[in-house]
Amino acid sequence: MKPTHLVLVDNDEYNIAVLDGIARKMNLDLTVINSRDDCDPKMRANDIDIIILNIKLMSEECNEIIRTIQDGRTKPILPMIILTPTNRVSEAIRTYGIYTIDVVYEPVKTEILQLKLRMLLDLIAAEHRLAEQVRQLQSLDELNKKMRRKIQEIALFDDLTGIPNRRHLNQELHKYCRHAHRDKEPLSVLMVDLDNFKGFNDYHGHIAGDHALTDVARTIVSCCRRPLDFVGRYGGEEFLVLLPKTDHNGAMEIAKAILEGVWKMGIPHCPKCGFQYLSVSIGLVTNVPSTSLQSEQLIDWADQAMYEAKRNGRNQIHTYQNADNSL
Ligand code: GH3
Ligand code: MG
Ligand code: MG
Repeated sequence: MKPTHLVLVDNDEYNIAVLDGIARKMNLDLTVINSRDDCDPKMRANDIDIIILNIKLMSEECNEIIRTIQDGRTKPILPMIILTPTNRVSEAIRTYGIYTIDVVYEPVKTEILQLKLRMLLDLIAAEHRLAEQVRQLQSLDELNKKMRRKIQEIALFDDLTGIPNRRHLNQELHKYCRHAHRDKEPLSVLMVDLDNFKGFNDYHGHIAGDHALTDVARTIVSCCRRPLDFVGRYGGEEFLVLLPKTDHNGAMEIAKAILEGVWKMGIPHCPKCGFQYLSVSIGLVTNVPSTSLQSEQLIDWADQAMYEAKRNGRNQIHTYQNADNSL
């Protein structure tokens, strides 16, 4: 650690000699200033720890020295000890009171000045320790916030594709259902499932399968342009798309865009998988949710429609027809 830097503003030979002795004994760095020229430019206000000022030097020039030091400081106000004859204490306090932490009477007694400096050094050391603890607490707080953000990310987003996961989807679907019921607006849901993806994995390998899943996720997201459209990974190779305030025709447009978008990615399927390129089957349901409608019900209907699309030959869209309030 750097030694404490003490500045004596004084021109009294005796005081300078006393401080010199104390500085050696207490291992302090001592700078003596007795004119403005000493103060500037070598004075670096933030590098000073304590000032000792002799009131006898009190003059415009001396005031200026003190102001230069105190104003140039970005750290807290610099502690100052005033050396003064007893008959000038009030005057000294009046002039330098706001900076002064202690007063030592002249003629200076070495032991007293040393004692006061020791107390001040302890105080400065405690202040440094406190500042260090505050810094550590702040960085812990930052770390804590980062960890909370990361945990939230892990809890709500899918690791592979980076899009919302099933937990996140369920939360949003629940919210969307309530809003759609309150506003009497249609809510459309698409269940998008990759066709014969097991065959794709078996033929191209699991890593290629992971890449394909990520690319399909990106394509689906790019087809959903409205701010409230919500795409998530529902399960292994299944995605769910929530389209609030969207009637059947609007949802069909999005479903077609997804169907064509995935096909146009031109990812070669496995030779025995039935299609040249990777494709999806989409189940669509549109509904104005009633109070009794659970969000699970909408997922179930979209799922049933998706299985119907599979039964009808895959790579197509099927709409769930029997939902109450179907639009
Ligand atoms: P269908 O057209 O009837 O949906 O057939 P399918 O083969 O897609 O359906 P199935 O349910 O039999 O198989 C799903 C496959 O999806 C099997 C599984 O290995 C694969 N899958 C699920 N999650 C992942 C994943 O994270 N990465 C990879 N590479 N494959 C996955
Ligand atoms: Mg599948
Ligand atoms: Mg599936």
